Amino acid sequence: MSKISKERKVTYYIGIGMMVLGFILFISVFFFTATMMNDPFGSRLPPFGNAVVGMVLLIAGALVKNIGARGTAGSGLLLDPEKAREDLKPFNEAKGGMINDALSNIDVVNKIAQSQQGKEVIKIRCKSCGGLNDEDAKFCKGCGKPI
Ligand SMILES: [Zn+2]
Repeated sequence: MSKISKERKVTYYIGIGMMVLGFILFISVFFFTATMMNDPFGSRLPPFGNAVVGMVLLIAGALVKNIGARGTAGSGLLLDPEKAREDLKPFNEAKGGMINDALSNIDVVNKIAQSQQGKEVIKIRCKSCGGLNDEDAKFCKGCGKPI
């Protein structure tokens, strides 16, 4: 089972943090402007600079979050289709949610069943030399006589 690396998770959360911060900065300007309307003196200008910084933070945060979720190749920063598929795999699995979880669980169950079957291989004893051979063997491994 593939999983998203710790670095990418950290990147993802940093991106979300940047987005939240940017959003607060951006929105705060509107609140500030709203309160300014009640300011009879109008002595101060609304902090439009904050809105710009907020916007940049919001966009940068979205980008960082994307890199965290899809990896450097998956988000298109690194042109490597092979790695993109690899990077996107955990992302797509997370998106697929329960259906994919159920499918991979079935896959695991199948693999366990297969490995258990592998342990119980039926062997056939050679009539001539007594050596053990695979069930589907036509000739004895020990003496070469047909079984
Ligand atoms: Zn034999």
